[in-house]
Amino acid sequence: MGCNCGKNQSSNPDGERASANLKQVQKKRMEPPVNRPTFPQIPQLTEPRHRTKLISPPPKLRFTSTEEMMDRMNRGLPPTSPDSGIEQNTSSKQESNLESEPVKTPSFVDKVKNLGKSVASRVTQGKASEDLIKLRVLSCHGDGEVVPCPYRSASNTREGAYFCTACGCGDKPRAFLNDPDDSGAYTKLDYPWVSCPVRMPGFGDYKPFSEETQEAIDKLPNGMKRKQLTEVVLTARGIEIPPAYEPVKTNGDTNDSSES
Ligand code: SF4
Repeated sequence: MGCNCGKNQSSNPDGERASANLKQVQKKRMEPPVNRPTFPQIPQLTEPRHRTKLISPPPKLRFTSTEEMMDRMNRGLPPTSPDSGIEQNTSSKQESNLESEPVKTPSFVDKVKNLGKSVASRVTQGKASEDLIKLRVLSCHGDGEVVPCPYRSASNTREGAYFCTACGCGDKPRAFLNDPDDSGAYTKLDYPWVSCPVRMPGFGDYKPFSEETQEAIDKLPNGMKRKQLTEVVLTARGIEIPPAYEPVKTNGDTNDSSES
């Protein structure tokens, strides 16, 4: 019989239970490990992780072939359809597009060279011929059939005036492509030799679309696409496009501004 003094633990039922539990735990530890079910392993990347583009790039512009355009015009249709070739954007839409897609303007050196050629041509020859000016007006402003140039923008300083955002001359009176108050005023389009970044018909550095390099087309795709359309329309109208011409040379300059 126990005396409840705590000396004889074996007679204590709590102590016996604790001792039994301890023995069970010790026994379990000695048992071989149980093969528990495992979760499927997540495969580890062995290749470097590449960032996935969440925003897909804008689709490449689709060019309608010159032959297709000519064929459409011969059938009395507009040169392009809504699902092919150039879009018939409104000029305000085109101007707003420019804000999101700024174009690369010619380098400072090229701008100085072009300006020098234009000024020299004005000094020595006065003014371009009417036919040349008409072609330039079509190239920049378009007409009922040819949309305005995507790089033409309304001036923020003078209502009704437009300037070229691709040539880098800026929104300045001397660079305006028109004079809204005086149709007879001398504007940028009146210089005997003047450069166009897209090398459009009528400009001193005109280059046919068929001779443009892919690199040049990729640089100003909207303008190049429109040049192709303009050439088709002019051909259909029986208007001959004069080739690029040599401006008056200044300090050894030539007419090679194709990189501008
Ligand atoms: S890119 Fe050429 S056609 Fe277009 S606005 Fe400028 S000068 Fe005119």
